[in-house]
This record gives sequence, structure tokens and C-alpha cells, in this order.
Amino acid sequence: MTRTAVIGRGLFGAAAARHLARAGVDVTLIGPSEPADTASHRGVFGSHYDEGRITRKNAAHPFWVEASMASIARYAEIEAESGIRFYTETGAMIAGSAAFMARVDVGRRRFDVPCDRLDDAALASRFPFFRFPEHFSGFHERTRAGHISPRRLVAAQTKAAQGHGARIIDATVQGLDESGTAATVTTDSAVQSFDRVLVAAGGWSDSVLARAPRLEVYARTVALFEISDGEAARLATMPSLVYEAPEDPYLLPPVRYPDGRICVKLGGDPEDVKLDGPGAVGDWFRSGGNAQVRDRLHEMVRDLMPDLVIESVSMAACVTSWTHDRLPEIANLSDRIAVCTGGNGSGAKCSDELGRRGAALILEKTGELT
Ligand SMILES: Cc1cc2nc3c(=O)[nH]c(=O)nc-3n(C[C@H](O)[C@H](O)[C@H](O)COP(=O)(O)OP(=O)(O)OC[C@H]3O[C@@H](n4cnc5c(N)ncnc54)[C@H](O)[C@@H]3O)c2cc1C
Repeated sequence: MTRTAVIGRGLFGAAAARHLARAGVDVTLIGPSEPADTASHRGVFGSHYDEGRITRKNAAHPFWVEASMASIARYAEIEAESGIRFYTETGAMIAGSAAFMARVDVGRRRFDVPCDRLDDAALASRFPFFRFPEHFSGFHERTRAGHISPRRLVAAQTKAAQGHGARIIDATVQGLDESGTAATVTTDSAVQSFDRVLVAAGGWSDSVLARAPRLEVYARTVALFEISDGEAARLATMPSLVYEAPEDPYLLPPVRYPDGRICVKLGGDPEDVKLDGPGAVGDWFRSGGNAQVRDRLHEMVRDLMPDLVIESVSMAACVTSWTHDRLPEIANLSDRIAVCTGGNGSGAKCSDELGRRGAALILEKTGELT
């Protein structure tokens, strides 16, 4: 049987491993666990060390609509296979000017995504806690939308993959070499040979492949606004939200964090800061984020939700990896090596489908596609 490795135990890699293992492939998923202390960690990082990612079907580009619909349809299967819950159905909304909504409607119409169209009056009456500009309207997806815990989704995919027979190696890959007969993967603790390797190492994919930079990796800061249990109850009907503004903001409804805090999270960067090379990416994660961006996000949440009672404000650093065409790179690079990367800031919700497509490349090559 074909010996396969997936490098990167993040959202795409763990999904790919589950699909490969389900198909009966001999698969080893290799990647390190989340570091215990971000500030002192010297190794690689992932973009899923968080509790909230927006999940929605609507998007301007039909690719994302299709991939999200396919993934969301399998959330229940992943939860059942793993026994780990990661999805909360709060609904999701996109709001903006007529021109902005017309762009979103291109993707929406292609797949006839079910949602309520709300004009400015309907927006105000359904969501009294938001203050949108008067010319805004919105698409509100009430079902099969909301948010996921990316941390728990990785845990669920990994556990389900193990249940189907995948092996997990908690290690960082230091080298990937290809010869005529095998692909050799060197980790900090071992050297192993595989017939096929899928690289799904997020912002580190270029360095794992030892290729000239193809991905653009950008620094991202998120602001977390801690609120009380009572405030969270007042916001019980709050959906996940993407709205039109120069910062491309996205807002998560109240989510409980592992330390017990309940936070509303706002992300969106006033300017794009590109990180050149793994050293710069590591330094950025260790920095914990940009305080000026955090303060700007604080102003923005006050404008959008003036009644929000905030107990404390904190921030976190993350990165997004972008491709030239703004669509994921899921491709065979050689007879033995394939890649599945490039979330373009949108890859969490649809990671199961992107991982499945990465797995399909391996299955096509090995003839084990069922
Ligand atoms: C702040 C922020 C907010 C976001 N919000 C949303 C959202 O609301 N909705 C949405 O759909 N998407 C969102 N995204 C995007 C989404 O999180 C990413 O698209 C997704 O995490 C990409 O998954 P991935 O598997 O490619 O990368 P990752 O999840 O980063 O996984 C890559 C893995 O590779 C591992 N790795 C790296 N180097 C090596 C190595 N040498 N050896 C072994 N393993 C290695 C890492 O440890 C990591 O576990 C957001 C991203 C950010 C940063």
C-alpha cells in the first residue's frame, strides 16, 4: 500500500489526513502541537490557535461558496466521528453598500445560498446592537453558518483520522527530499521514507518545500473584547459578521476562551504588513500583535456596537497566507510531492473540503481513489 505523509497538523493537513485515512490509505500526519508559550517558542506556528473563525457560505468568489458549502455539510460527520464539537450555529451576516452587496451576490447567486436580504430598517430591527451606516443592507444566513473553533476542528479531524488508522507524529519537519524511489522526510527525531507527501504547512509551506517564495504571508492582529455573562446573554442572537470598511473587518459573537473569559473578537488590518521569510513570521507571532491596530479595532467596535460593555481588551497575532490568484494552491508539484495551502484569509470554514481536494491529488496518483 502507498505510504503517504501529510506535513502540517493544521486545518488543511488534519482534514487531508482524515480523508486519506477514510479512503484506506496508509497515512502519517506530521506536525507539532500548539506551543505552550507563544512568546518564548522558537519553532513554527499555526494560524488556528484560536477559538473563533467565522463560518458562512456567502462570498464574492464562487470558489469559496462551493468549498464552504461542501465543508459545512460535513461538520456533523466530523463531530460524530471524533466526538469533539467545534461548530456553533449563530448565523452569519455580510453587510455593506449596494455596490459591496452586488459583489457578494455574484457568488451567492451561483449556488442560490439561502439567506434573508435585509434593508437598513430590517437590519436595525433584527440587530439593534449594531449601528450600521444608513445606506447599508445585508445578507443574513440564519442556518449552516456561525462560527467554529479552529483549535477544536484540528483536534476533531486529527482524532477522526486516527480512528480511521492514521498515525500522528508530533514533530517539526526539517527537510523534505525527493529521489527516484521515495520522498524522504527528516524531522527533529527521525528520517522516514514515503511514496507520496502532501505539504500543508500554512505560512511555512514555502520553507518546507525549500522553494522560492510563492505565498505572501501577512501579519494580522485581532482584538479581543472581554464581556460579562450578562452581556453575552444580551447578545444571544448576534451573528458572525463581515462588513464593508477599509480594514476588511470581521466580528465574532461572544465565544468562551479556555481561560474562562467570554470575548467578542474583531479583526481587520488598516494596512497590510508583509512578512518575508520564516524568521519574520516567527518574530511576528512572538510579538503578540500590533497595539496600534488593536486600538483602531477598539475604536471600530465602539462605532459599530456603542452599547457594548467591555471589561478588558487584549490582542493576539496571527498570519494569513495569500496566493497570486487569491485561491488556494492545491496541486501536484512532482510525482511524489503535492501541496495544499493558501487559505487567503478564508480557509478555516472550508478547510475540510480543501483538505479533501489535497487528499484527492494523492488518491488520483496512487490509484486508490474510490
Ligand atoms: C486572525 C485570523 C482570522 C481568520 N479568520 C477566519 C475566519 O473567520 N474564517 C475563515 O474561514 N478563515 C479565517 N482565517 C483563515 C484561516 O485560519 C486559515 O486559512 C487556515 O488556518 C489555514 O489553514 P492551514 O492548514 O493552511 O494553516 P495552519 O492552520 O496554520 O496549519 C499549518 C500547520 O503547519 C504546521 N507546520 C508549519 N511548519 C511545519 C513544519 N516544518 N513541519 C511540520 N509542520 C509544520 C504548523 O505547526 C501548523 O499546525 C483567519 C486567519 C487569521 C490569521
